[in-house]
Amino acid sequence: TDEPPVLQARDLHAGYRGVPCVRGVDLDVHPGEVVVVLGPNGAGKTTTLLTMAGALPGLGGDVLWRGAPTKAPLHRRVGDGLGVVPEERSITSRLSVLDNLRIGAGPVERALELFSELRPLLGRRAGLLSGGEQRMLATARALAAGPSVLLADELSLGLAPMIVSRLMRALREAADQGATVLLVEQHARKALAVADRAYILQRGAVVWSGTADEARRNLRRIERAYLGQD
Ligand code: ATP
Repeated sequence: TDEPPVLQARDLHAGYRGVPCVRGVDLDVHPGEVVVVLGPNGAGKTTTLLTMAGALPGLGGDVLWRGAPTKAPLHRRVGDGLGVVPEERSITSRLSVLDNLRIGAGPVERALELFSELRPLLGRRAGLLSGGEQRMLATARALAAGPSVLLADELSLGLAPMIVSRLMRALREAADQGATVLLVEQHARKALAVADRAYILQRGAVVWSGTADEARRNLRRIERAYLGQD
């Protein structure tokens, strides 16, 4: 699109305790896009996402939020329209599904409109849900807040293909309604089915980027070359 990026990494370096595992990443996300970051385990995808969210301090380069470099921490950007579904379980196991939705920033009813599957589960302890249901709960809660930019980390991890498609479709719909989505995924095929553009990271650097359409057309080659799959 011609609109300026809402979120951008410019020559981003990031890592832990001063040791970079992300080295010089350039990545931008335009309004209404679904952008997916693919790559093998340990490539630096989560680190890139968390640094762009403001959850980790960067080690060099810039994160730009609506065109301006920012070092604002995550909690300040959440008030400014940022939503995050982290890789770790973000729901509270001991609370009911309903209470998990109540402590979210958006209306419970909105979450249930997005994921009606949760309706019959409202009274259940979240910890007793299946992995897929827990992921739907976390995603529903994040989307109900109406984030202008949603960052999601490995929604598909360990889930059945049907649930993965369901979650991906929810992200696409959110984007079609004006949200912007940056998604880290292992499940290339499912993510590319809903994405507009893709970046592939390897050892902390972008080794491929292009439209999701291009990536879909060359998926076998891309998997072999970059994702360690044949
Ligand atoms: P995965 O799919 O396994 O999550 P990833 O591409 O998201 O992989 P990162 O999680 O960003 O990769 O990890 C990049 C590198 O940073 C890896 O070598 C990892 O071991 C290391 N790393 C991740 N988290 C930490 C941490 N909290 N402290 C120190 N090193 C870390």
